[in-house]
Amino acid sequence: MELFRTTREVTAWSASLRRQGRTIAFVPTMGYLHEGHLSLMRAARGRADQVAVSIFVNPTQFGPKEDLSRYPRDLDGDLSKCRSAGVDAVFAPADEKELYPTGAQTFVEVTQVSQGLCGEKRPGHFRGVATVVTKLFNAVQPHLALFGEKDYQQLQVLKAMTRDLLLPIEIVGLPTVRERDGLAMSSRNAYLSPDERGRALALSRGLFAAQKAVAAGERSAAALVQTVRAELLASSLREDYVACVDSSSLRPLDTVTPGSGRLLVAAFCGTTRLIDNVGL
Ligand code: AMP
Repeated sequence: MELFRTTREVTAWSASLRRQGRTIAFVPTMGYLHEGHLSLMRAARGRADQVAVSIFVNPTQFGPKEDLSRYPRDLDGDLSKCRSAGVDAVFAPADEKELYPTGAQTFVEVTQVSQGLCGEKRPGHFRGVATVVTKLFNAVQPHLALFGEKDYQQLQVLKAMTRDLLLPIEIVGLPTVRERDGLAMSSRNAYLSPDERGRALALSRGLFAAQKAVAAGERSAAALVQTVRAELLASSLREDYVACVDSSSLRPLDTVTPGSGRLLVAAFCGTTRLIDNVGL
């Protein structure tokens, strides 16, 4: 497995593969890898000749009061996980300047699907995500890129960005990987105390209960939102938002048509902000 610490190196690697007519699948991450990330890497292997992964904790997607400095990091552990998952190349910029050169003043903004939900609660977050993913796409020059539905709004933002900017890259979204008890895997789960880890189950429990309600005939978005809220309340989690939206436009729904709705939740478990979502 190759490890590249500079943009120049990863771009040269990609160019050489492209000259040989070989295809590249790309999985961008912020590291502290878990099964959710690894599922994307394994899926990538079946879809292209070579798999590239990036590991970069992107400062521009964190708000001033967020967890940038304490975000968990473990490059050595991540590299061995990538090796086991059959990754061909890891791009782990040695310095922020590899992606944000001195004087950097250019940003990418997706105006509609970035609004509401996490976009409203974390101002500037998706501008940071869209900007870094554009830079990573330019550095790695992949044919396709894989993202998790765990970050559902992010996936919609990146699909819109790729379409709007005519980027010749296929965006693939893959299902959320969960712990056995239902908790969506996340690098941030490492912040949870044992008590919080138990209470964090309220997110998935609420979402699954709402899914069951839809299967049983419930069509009211307000009732589904209430189902999730009740679980958060029962576990003393502080709601950031609960929303039932159209699965592609992310606009709020009043009534759910099965197959077209998405239910999303963000909540604080202690000081840790967790997100999760399901299709309806
Ligand atoms: P992150 O390192 O949190 O920026 O995530 C990198 C990629 O992994 C993104 O495409 C995420 O959506 C995806 N991802 C994170 N957690 C999960 C999960 N539990 N299941 C599937 N994909 C995930």
